[in-house]
Amino acid sequence: MVLTINFERFKANFNELAAIGKKDDGGIYRMAFNADELLARDWLEAKLEAYGIPTRRDAALNIIGRYENEANQDKPAVVIGSHIDTVPNAGALDGALGVLVGLECLLCIKEQSIQTTYPLEVIAFSDEEGRFGGMFGSRAFAGQLNPRIIEESQDLDGIMLSDVLQQLGVDPYQALSASRPKKEIKSYLELHIEQGPVLDAENVSVGIVSDITGLFKWQVRLLGAANHAGTTPMEMRKDAFMGLADFAHEIPRIIDENGGEASRITIGNVALYPGSANTVPGEVDFSIDARDVSLEVMNELKDACRKALSAIARRRQLSFDFTEASMIYPVACDNQMQSHLEEAAQQLEMSYKVMPSGAAHDAQMVAKIAPIAMIFVPSKNGISHSPHEWTDWHHLESGANLALNALVRIAGDR
Ligand SMILES: [Zn+2]
Repeated sequence: MVLTINFERFKANFNELAAIGKKDDGGIYRMAFNADELLARDWLEAKLEAYGIPTRRDAALNIIGRYENEANQDKPAVVIGSHIDTVPNAGALDGALGVLVGLECLLCIKEQSIQTTYPLEVIAFSDEEGRFGGMFGSRAFAGQLNPRIIEESQDLDGIMLSDVLQQLGVDPYQALSASRPKKEIKSYLELHIEQGPVLDAENVSVGIVSDITGLFKWQVRLLGAANHAGTTPMEMRKDAFMGLADFAHEIPRIIDENGGEASRITIGNVALYPGSANTVPGEVDFSIDARDVSLEVMNELKDACRKALSAIARRRQLSFDFTEASMIYPVACDNQMQSHLEEAAQQLEMSYKVMPSGAAHDAQMVAKIAPIAMIFVPSKNGISHSPHEWTDWHHLESGANLALNALVRIAGDR
């Protein structure tokens, strides 16, 4: 049996949510726990309740709607969702789409009285986009939160997460109790925009994600000597910037020799000191953001970066040090769930592409406690985190239909 979503209802709900937090510049400003994001939360809860889906907020303020029956209520839940918070000046799709598709899937299954083997939950995770650091809700859900994160998280204006939670009537430390034991979660499915150009360029409606990329961030410092730009001969300089320039040129070689197709290395932030036009720069601080879907490859990239930097430092008479600011492990999507997705796509006669995710998602956190899978839909021109973020309606419909049919397979249609 092939199921189809109620596209008109989906579209209406999509437009209602997209209007919340939309400003005159066309961008959406639903940063976690701000006034508009709270309105979006109320909207989602009201919708779920109106459709007769019991809903609660957990201790990390994740919104969870649940559809169960007497036979499956004690079994682990199959969860579908994403987030409804946004970056500043956002588009309407990032996150919201996954929650709206989850909502629509539950409604279709409920309407048709499909009795799944496992109960279903739709979830909107708190602060995925990182007003307070990112993936707060999914971290809590997957037991990856600790008191330090709760105590130290603050936004760019210095507002503390713990104060905001308190104002919302929540004991911040209680967020730790939002952690769900493994035995309560059967699996997690997330539909998200690709946020890259691949599906759009190939005009494929849906991507089935194979892996979610891991990421390490380094903060590197090369130290030389600041000196007069006129009086210091070229061969007698300890020019930190030239060290950075040499390293930048090594990146393609490092990826060729030590990386793979999914490897990415980016230098996105650079500070030169003293930073005056007529002084040889004696110090450069810069970031390295490196990603791959394999932990082994990530470790090889680390080795290669370290070796290249130390060879350059020697040659240029610089010293170097670095700190690892973060390390997120890559995650493989569950094979069986992927098969369900591929079978559903074939049954729907939908073309699809199996592909890695280069961006991080809530699914990466949930993977700590349950098998996960992800569906991508195309991002027009690869754009996201912008009011120009868009996906054609027919792709959205395809993605939602794939999610619905896969969800029933994953949750067991008896
Ligand atoms: Zn997102």
